[in-house]
Amino acid sequence: MDDNHSILIVAPHPDDETLGCGGTALKYIHQGYKVYWLICTEFYRGGKTNENIAIRNNEIESVSSKYGFIKRFELGYTAAELTPADVSPLVKKITAIVNEIKPSVVFLPNGSDIHTDHQIIFKAAFSCTKNFNFPFITKVLLYETISETEFAPVSDHSFIPNVYINISDFVEQKLQIMELYKSEVMPPPGPRSLIAIKALATYRGSAIGKSYAEAFMLLKQIIN
Ligand SMILES: [Zn+2]
Repeated sequence: MDDNHSILIVAPHPDDETLGCGGTALKYIHQGYKVYWLICTEFYRGGKTNENIAIRNNEIESVSSKYGFIKRFELGYTAAELTPADVSPLVKKITAIVNEIKPSVVFLPNGSDIHTDHQIIFKAAFSCTKNFNFPFITKVLLYETISETEFAPVSDHSFIPNVYINISDFVEQKLQIMELYKSEVMPPPGPRSLIAIKALATYRGSAIGKSYAEAFMLLKQIIN
């Protein structure tokens, strides 16, 4: 895909990386790219008990090893509690990570998603792609998160994809990884059911004449 073979995926919540760009991550890891995973928040279904912490950590560990991410970063914010006041400290934390891994490509959540965590993480992380501070970043892509992106009200910043990545060889693996998030997968016809996730990949694929694809909005590309 790009120059230094290093990619950063910013996920407000664990599972956003899989819903938005799981097939793409698998494809580029398969091609030898170094892919890094940044998880911004924590959530414990049923409360923060030792048992629930262990369940969540096991899920994240299995997901991480299934992909073969080079490294995982966790910021540890509480899910659904990010506020605009968190943007500035988030920028500092994300800046440190970006400087450590020096990615050429960055995948971000779509800034107009319905979930405020996605909006705030987008705002903070996009600040960490400015060329004068991070000259090694040559491409910034927004991914769509089913049940967050299409649930947003229509706005001037609605998600309109203009980049499609063929994931035909990786869609089954993406779905298997999604299944590892036991508490997040919904029964059909829920938007986070495996059938809906695959249907979106089918629909995005149909736009480029491929069986399955993931769709993105290109926010910035620098051609040197
Ligand atoms: Zn999310």
